[in-house]
Amino acid sequence: MKLNTSAMRYLSNDDFRVLTATEMGSKNHEIVPTVLIAQIAGLRGGAGVGNCISELAKANLIARVKNAKYDGYRLTYGGYDYLAIKAFSNRRSVYSVGNQIGVGKESDIFVVANEKGRKCVLKIHRLGRISFRSVKNNRDYLRNRQSASWMYLSRLAAQKEFSFMKALYENEFAVPEPIDYSRHCIVMSLIPGFPMRQLSSHEDPSTLYSSLMSFIVRLANHGLIHCDFNEFNIMILDEPKSEDEQFVVIDFPQCVSIDHVDAERYFRRDVDCIRRFFEKKLGYVSEDYPEFKRDVKRVASLDIDVQASGFSKKMVKEFEKAISESREKVEDEFDHESFGEENYDDEEQHDDDEVVEEQEDELRSEDDLAGGSGDAEESGLPVV
Ligand code: ADP
Ligand code: MG
Repeated sequence: MKLNTSAMRYLSNDDFRVLTATEMGSKNHEIVPTVLIAQIAGLRGGAGVGNCISELAKANLIARVKNAKYDGYRLTYGGYDYLAIKAFSNRRSVYSVGNQIGVGKESDIFVVANEKGRKCVLKIHRLGRISFRSVKNNRDYLRNRQSASWMYLSRLAAQKEFSFMKALYENEFAVPEPIDYSRHCIVMSLIPGFPMRQLSSHEDPSTLYSSLMSFIVRLANHGLIHCDFNEFNIMILDEPKSEDEQFVVIDFPQCVSIDHVDAERYFRRDVDCIRRFFEKKLGYVSEDYPEFKRDVKRVASLDIDVQASGFSKKMVKEFEKAISESREKVEDEFDHESFGEENYDDEEQHDDDEVVEEQEDELRSEDDLAGGSGDAEESGLPVV
């Protein structure tokens, strides 16, 4: 999905207030009544609010929900993007937005820059994008899924990824530097390199292989399994720092604790992914590979530390439920050639959003989501 930042330039402060009010109103309303938007925005005079609403709707940042019992609006993907980018801009983490460099399974990746011209990566989580098609054919299934709100799930994914990246970065793992996060978006350093899948040969595959296996074991010794450790999520540096520092690992929202019931299986799967890639692409086979029971010895507990830093058990459980299906799917996706093929279809999403919204109220009142906003300050997570 494209990122439309043009509205940034012409929206007034009042427009922004009204947009924020719509976000806050979605905390406990699937469709936010117009009167409530006006009330939260606290703008004097009804006509003012009306004008703001129509500006925002024209810019596709909010959408009128016509089949509701009352007149109301909901925040769109675009509106949610806008609020996150505006927060980054206020905090000076992002000054300009450049090219889209990736369309992942459940994310959009852009190059951005701060005021000093430092290039970074903006990752926008879009959970629910691919699964919508199957969900549409089975609404009961969706009803059983407590956490089907795209906004909520995407926010949890960003929060989880940022927390893990921060913990790993601080423990000197080769991961991007986490810079900022807001709602469903994170900003991190741009890795000067390319995904390992583009490698068709390597002058010393055994060293690269060993460093990758060491990464998996060291990560597990710190309490974590990546769960999607494949050639798409390993960036090979254009200029390696040393023989042992040739790569950077990205993409953590699906990682699990080594205490997870399926930890051993996930660990083996990550190891097998690397072995298979080396055999298929680089013609390198080694009988030397780590085994969970034999080689993993806990030395630290990043899994527990991260939970303690604001990612509550309940959030983990809800997120787990929602993504366990996608984590299982990883297994069949060794050949990721079809990435990005399932193009996001705006119209379809609108249909499905209506379904999703039916249960949003329940979800939110249960968990008292902080204003629908995932800002670091509000969730107690440190701001970089
Ligand atoms: P997804 O969860 O959708 O797979 P990823 O985090 O793996 O998203 O990112 C998708 C692609 O975007 C990666 O394969 C890589 O090419 C690019 N990318 C992501 N993060 C960075 C980064 N920090 N620096 C450079 N490229 C990146
Ligand atoms: Mg990825």
